[in-house]
Amino acid sequence: MEDKDHKKIGKELDLFTFSDLIGPGLPLWTPKGTMVRHLLDDFVWELRRKYGYQKVEIPHITKKDLYEMSGHWDKFEDDLFRISTREGHEFALKPMNCPHHTQIYARHPHSYRDLPQRYANTTTCYRDEQSGELNGLSRTRAFAQDDAHVFCRIEQAKDEIQKIWEIVHVFYESFGLNLELRLSLRDPSTPEKYLGNQELWDKAEKILRGIAGKNKTKYVEAPGEAAFYAPKLDFMTKDSLGREWQVATIQLDVNMPERFDLTCVNERGDKERIVMIHAAIMGSLERFMSILLEHTQGTFPLWLSPIQVKILPIGEAHFEYAKNVFEKLKAENIRAELDVSDETLGKKIRNTKTEKVPYALVIGDKEVADEKVTVESRDNGKLGESVIKDLIDKLKAEIKEKK
Ligand SMILES: [Zn+2]
Repeated sequence: MEDKDHKKIGKELDLFTFSDLIGPGLPLWTPKGTMVRHLLDDFVWELRRKYGYQKVEIPHITKKDLYEMSGHWDKFEDDLFRISTREGHEFALKPMNCPHHTQIYARHPHSYRDLPQRYANTTTCYRDEQSGELNGLSRTRAFAQDDAHVFCRIEQAKDEIQKIWEIVHVFYESFGLNLELRLSLRDPSTPEKYLGNQELWDKAEKILRGIAGKNKTKYVEAPGEAAFYAPKLDFMTKDSLGREWQVATIQLDVNMPERFDLTCVNERGDKERIVMIHAAIMGSLERFMSILLEHTQGTFPLWLSPIQVKILPIGEAHFEYAKNVFEKLKAENIRAELDVSDETLGKKIRNTKTEKVPYALVIGDKEVADEKVTVESRDNGKLGESVIKDLIDKLKAEIKEKK
């Protein structure tokens, strides 16, 4: 069977949509799609929380001043959505979150003892991509980033980057997604494209190269692929057409802290310049979703399926017992749907397969009499009869495993 494009799968599974009234490149998420996004984001958060990350929130617009100071106003000029206010001020929709986060760090002085400060924020960014470049969820004008920024001393950077590295690997391995690593560096022939002084760049590039080497991963060096403010470790993966996309990224930035004068007070009572690590795990949730949809062809693992179980009573006589089973699953936070349509059992089972629901529970006379359900698994076929309690235990164990 030929692999389907994520746009087609997303439509079949009713995960997202577009509207001509809203405009191209601006995806809308349905209840099922939103459920999947939140589950993915919660998974990343679960991995981050144990390393001391804290959640923050920011507005989606800013005065021009912030981007003049960060350098985005010049470097991002063509991609910025600008807003003029009625009082004649110029604002912009944020194309990234870093400059906003610097202002959370800068709210008061920090002792070296308070570092690292780790801020995590899943929030939408906006870039005025050209119409011809837009493609489903792969390239959009609005996309949510699972963004994080670590503010720390330069000698803490290595450890912090290693922790992010662990998160990236646990996350992607759970989906069986293979990543390729790219060390994105300055283009030595155009130093004017990058902020700040070359010595600091050398230092940051050396630390990232050290991390890549230490983890014994094969990687390619890509001169010219650095961000204008920092070198990056970019994790790449391929879509169904073999096109390569960047997903996770770790950037070691010595320039934003310079521009925004971010410091800590060190052991000697002096102000010391800090560094900033940018870390996105999925990167853009939209793009990650496009890759995951094509990789799985919509067959999500149980923990990620918007509907985990379909309950299929054969006839009206079985509705009451089926409702009972539904309530029991719901009480255990298992996402179930009850199909009380007039369709034949065969049709109900086929619908369950089209919707890629992991489990179907068939209920007829025998199941009602035995107080059981007959279980059909999407991945393993007919599993036979089960009492509800055993089924719930099995499902919960599978959800917890995240496999
Ligand atoms: Zn950033």
